[in-house]
Amino acid sequence: MKDLFKDLNEIQKQAVSTTEGPLMIIAGAGSGKTRVLTYRIAHLIEKGIDSFNILALTFTNKAAREMKERISSLIGGTEAKNLWMGTFHSVFARILRAEAHKLGFPSNFTIYDSQDSVNVIKKLISEMQLDSDIYKPKQVLGRISSYKNNLITVRAYFNNPELIEADQAAMKPKIGEIYKAYVERCFKSGAMDFDDLLLRTNELLTRFPEVLAKYQDRFRYIMVDEYQDTNHSQYLIVKALASRFENICVVGDDAQSIYAFRGANIRNILDFQKDYSDAKIIPLEQNYRSTQIIVEAANEVIAKNRDQLEKNVWTQNNEGDKIPLYRALSDADEANYVAAEIFNLKLTQQKRNKDFAILYRTNAQSRAIEEALRKKNIAYQVYGGLSFYQRKEIKDLLAYLRVLVNPRDQEALLRIINYPARGIGNTTLNKLIVGADQQDQSINEILENIELLGQAIGLNKPTIEKLANFWTMIKSFQVLLKTEDVYEVAMKVAITSGILKTLKEDDTPEGISRVENVQELMNSLQGFVDEQRQLEDGDPSLNYFLENIALASDLDNGNEEDDKVSLMTIHLAKGLEFPVVFIVGLEENLFPSQMSLNTRQELEEERRLFYVALTRAEKKAYFTYATTRFRWGKIVDGEPSRFLEEINNKHLEILNIEFKGSTKNRSGLDSDLFDGDFSPRYPKGPNPKYQNKQEPPRSPQNLKPISNAKLTHPVGGSLSDLKLGDHVLHDRFGKGIVKSIEGDPENAKALIDFENEGEKKLLLKFAKLKIL
Ligand code: ATP
Ligand code: MG
Repeated sequence: MKDLFKDLNEIQKQAVSTTEGPLMIIAGAGSGKTRVLTYRIAHLIEKGIDSFNILALTFTNKAAREMKERISSLIGGTEAKNLWMGTFHSVFARILRAEAHKLGFPSNFTIYDSQDSVNVIKKLISEMQLDSDIYKPKQVLGRISSYKNNLITVRAYFNNPELIEADQAAMKPKIGEIYKAYVERCFKSGAMDFDDLLLRTNELLTRFPEVLAKYQDRFRYIMVDEYQDTNHSQYLIVKALASRFENICVVGDDAQSIYAFRGANIRNILDFQKDYSDAKIIPLEQNYRSTQIIVEAANEVIAKNRDQLEKNVWTQNNEGDKIPLYRALSDADEANYVAAEIFNLKLTQQKRNKDFAILYRTNAQSRAIEEALRKKNIAYQVYGGLSFYQRKEIKDLLAYLRVLVNPRDQEALLRIINYPARGIGNTTLNKLIVGADQQDQSINEILENIELLGQAIGLNKPTIEKLANFWTMIKSFQVLLKTEDVYEVAMKVAITSGILKTLKEDDTPEGISRVENVQELMNSLQGFVDEQRQLEDGDPSLNYFLENIALASDLDNGNEEDDKVSLMTIHLAKGLEFPVVFIVGLEENLFPSQMSLNTRQELEEERRLFYVALTRAEKKAYFTYATTRFRWGKIVDGEPSRFLEEINNKHLEILNIEFKGSTKNRSGLDSDLFDGDFSPRYPKGPNPKYQNKQEPPRSPQNLKPISNAKLTHPVGGSLSDLKLGDHVLHDRFGKGIVKSIEGDPENAKALIDFENEGEKKLLLKFAKLKIL
């Protein structure tokens, strides 16, 4: 145990020691909000509060894990283990599992990711014979999502003429009916989508006062990080849970609210004082993260926003370097500049790859940057985009596993019923869907009795036999699940169903990489089983595995121990910090996004996004923009972003922009930038230094498909060198010492004594271990 308070400034101490009653900390970026929350929890536990009674809600599960580790290291012992920490979605999914039966859901309900939801909507639109050009499935889902996040249930929708009229005015009068059908289909499938996890929690807490009382009594101390980005549904859950003890502490920064498009509601901050009349408000103003130049530049930009709470963020840190501004001729040139800078800083300043982050507005921008990094042999990790678990081959296999756990999951069932092809065509599927509806049963119930019911729903004998065979296979997997672990079952599924065989028939590089992906999924299943078995309260069930996958955020796929440059959208970077940050693509219509130029509110949200991006940087930030860029399949011209204009020139190191009065008449920006003192180093276009003339040879490693799924591969080289007494680092259990090693090299296990977690036996093949 250490003296917690010595790591905090006066005002932070006050925030940490104010443990009773409502407290709101609204403060600028990097001022220690998350740190205060972490120390506050440690302090509560030290004061003797049972960790069982503490709930902390974070923006990502990764943030929760890190916070937990930090608390463990602050207070020692194992107390932190019982803390309930995680995203709203993961915490309330857990509560819903325990209580789902009250709402008519099975406890093994499936969680639909947005791809599943879109698929369901697509099917409904086609079943209802609506035009999918008018009812674009993603848009319809967005609309439904916003209803749910504002607690507008189907019934509330139909009772609200304004909403109905609004949809009619938008020429989409059937939205309400799609909404209704979607909710019914999900219910029948025993499935909840992401928004349901919040909506149904609200339903649970309102309809069942005894359930509310139980969780109010349990969560006596509630903390919420990134409060500015909570939506209405989340706000109501927190309010309900906190209303008995009112020990609620929320931290956030209105200047970093960047999820309005997903329903985040800044009013939640403004209403806090109304909801809790005795609320204490503590501001934090000293930034500990960034250099003076970064803090000042960020302040200058955000000051342009009209809607904001006043704050004065300052820092005692060094002044730091000016922010280089690089004007690229193309996206490739921009990418080469970034890669070359990283290469140089690694060489001259002993920086590691993981000290760098490259932040962009849209996922599509990563491609050019990836290429430039690969050319320079710089290891990187792309976060977000199409996640590993959304790849077709992975979704297919997971769909089998989902059906084993929850046979009512219609989306999964329809996905696999004829995959790999077994001669069950669309006509059959339609008969099944219609038949199920008519009999008021779900498809799995029809399949269960297909020999009896098949004819009644219009199927012929050979088809009935095919369906019966399919269902017998599924049932045999279910039987297996009773005795075998999930890895064994998944392996059996992959082989018996014919998935592996089908994939292996394709020997193109893409086909090979699909087989590798399935292998990777198997590794992660094995790793999961292994990890859960080692935990006292581990749960190696298939259900829990699937839940973890469904709720893994885009950030959870990486492995912090890897020494890699991070590439991500700014939205994902919230709350994170890196020594060096590149903000690329600073062009009008890209950042700020073209879609945001209609209203002041939208533009202000883009500006907050810029503020978030810049305040991720500790030591150095870079800005780049390109005068031409490959977008939507063609070359488009770009003007520098207005946000660059909003920063005082004295904070910028302008690298290569043409002289004032050059014949090329560009935006007003140039003339602003050129007032004053810079000497253009590269008067004509990009620095030739950054033009890649020759492509260096690619290492085999670089030719591997890029996957976000670094789940269970050992990190940091070969573990076969592991010896007794070695100090190791495990990405969950932390530091430890090797006590013994047993078994043949292929299946070697090591007994490791972890500083905070005690002794654990790990299978080396899958342990995420690094030798220190
Ligand atoms: P954001 O708004 O980006 O989420 P934040 O307000 O949550 O930022 P933290 O991430 O908690 O800020 O802190 C920023 C950095 O400053 C962290 O590296 C943290 O460890 C450090 N820090 C905060 N307070 C102190 C302090 N009193 N002494 C030393 N370092 C501090
Ligand atoms: Mg934070």
